[in-house]
Amino acid sequence: MKIVSACLIGCQCRYDQRACLDAETEALLKEGKAIPVCPEQLGGLPTPRPPAEIVGGDGFDVLDGRARVIDRTGRDVTAEFLAGARQALRLAQAVGATSAVLKENSPSCGSSFVYDGTFSGNKTAGVGVTAALLIRSGIAVQSEQTK
Ligand code: SF4
Repeated sequence: MKIVSACLIGCQCRYDQRACLDAETEALLKEGKAIPVCPEQLGGLPTPRPPAEIVGGDGFDVLDGRARVIDRTGRDVTAEFLAGARQALRLAQAVGATSAVLKENSPSCGSSFVYDGTFSGNKTAGVGVTAALLIRSGIAVQSEQTK
């Protein structure tokens, strides 16, 4: 069983409600091999919501208290991102998931790149908060681009 980002199977849970359906990930769901999660919604954030970026590092740095997640209005949403990551991990462990397919570039789900915290559209190498927690917990994380 895999954990997959809910937006990849067509849920309109992105900050802007834009669909980002990935056919291969959707197929995993239809075959009964995937459980969809949206960590940002699980952490209590509404949809739509302002976009957020990690400031001062990547998801591992957020887990270790060296970086924060800030939305475009300047609100610190680190607590919500951490809560969502923990909920996603709990779900993964509950269903015995050993791997995940997560949406690239997201401050929660990115597994190779995230936006750099300047809200200027620039990406930097790094992982999102949920991806970092899953990786630290022994779950293999891929993106829809690398699976
Ligand atoms: Fe939710 Fe992750 Fe998709 Fe963002 S990338 S909408 S947190 S599932």
